[in-house]
Amino acid sequence: SGAIRFEDVVFHYDPDRPILKGISFEVPAGNTVAIVGPSGAGKSTISRLLFRFYDVTGGRVTIDGQDVRDVTQESLRQAIGMVPQDTVLFNDTIAYNIRYGRPDAADEDVRAAARMAQIDSFIETLPKGYASEVGERGLKLSGGEKQRVAIARTILKAPPILILDEATSALDTHTEREIQSALDQVSRNRTTVVIAHRLSTVVNADQILVLQAGVIAERGTHAELLAKG
Ligand code: ADP
Ligand code: ADP
Repeated sequence: SGAIRFEDVVFHYDPDRPILKGISFEVPAGNTVAIVGPSGAGKSTISRLLFRFYDVTGGRVTIDGQDVRDVTQESLRQAIGMVPQDTVLFNDTIAYNIRYGRPDAADEDVRAAARMAQIDSFIETLPKGYASEVGERGLKLSGGEKQRVAIARTILKAPPILILDEATSALDTHTEREIQSALDQVSRNRTTVVIAHRLSTVVNADQILVLQAGVIAERGTHAELLAKG
C-alpha cells in the first residue's frame, strides 16, 4: 500500500492567486518521487494536500485509490510520516529521540531504524547543548544528522508513505548525500517516498517532477531529464 495519485489537482490559498493549476501524477506503492523546482513553485503545497492540511480546490488526491477526503485524520496520520525541515531533539539519548511517540518499540526495532538512517554508531549518546549536565559526553549533531534522527523516528513508525520536505532548507552537498543514502535504505523497505526539493541535482528517485509556477513542466527519470537537457 501507499500508492499516491493526484488527478487534475487545482489549488489556491487565495482565490486571486492559483498555486497549483492542474497537477496530475501517479506514484506506485513503494516508489520514490522527487518534486523539484524553484522556491514558491508549490512543492510544499503538494505535500500539504496529501496529508490534508488543506483540501484541494479542484480535482482529487487519492491514496490507494481512496480520496483523502474520505479518510479519517487518524488513518492519514498512520499512513503518512512527515520528516520536518527542522528537527527539535529532546534532552535525552538519540535512541530515546528515535523512540519518541512509540515507547513500547523493541530495542532491536530502534536499532534497525537507526541502522537504516545510518546513525546507529551514536544512538546511545546525548545531543550536545541539551546535555549540559553530562558535559563532554554530549555530541554535536549536524543538520543532516538531526534530519536522519527524524528519518529514523519515521522508519520506526513504518508508515506506507514518507514525506521529506526540503523545499526551503539549504543543506550542503555532503549532507544531501547522507540523507539521500538514508532514503535509499528507506525505499528498499517498500515505503513510498515523496521528496520536495529546491534543486534538480537529486536523486535516485523513480520519477522526478519539475514544478514551475504551479504546473508540471517536465517529468521523467534523472537520466531522461538529463537527455532532454
Ligand atoms: P515551494 O514549496 O515550491 O517553495 P510552496 O508550496 O511553499 O512552494 O508555496 C507556493 C506558493 O504558495 C508561494 O507563492 C507561497 O508564497 C504561497 N503560499 C504558501 N503557503 C501559503 C499560505 N499558507 N497562504 C497563502 N499563500 C501561501
Ligand atoms: P511547514 O511547511 O510550514 O514547515 P509542514 O508542511 O511541515 O509545515 O506541516 C504543516 C502542518 O501539518 C504542521 O502544522 C504539521 O504539524 C502538520 N503535520 C505534519 N505532518 C503531519 C501528518 N503526518 N499528519 C497531520 N499533520 C501533519
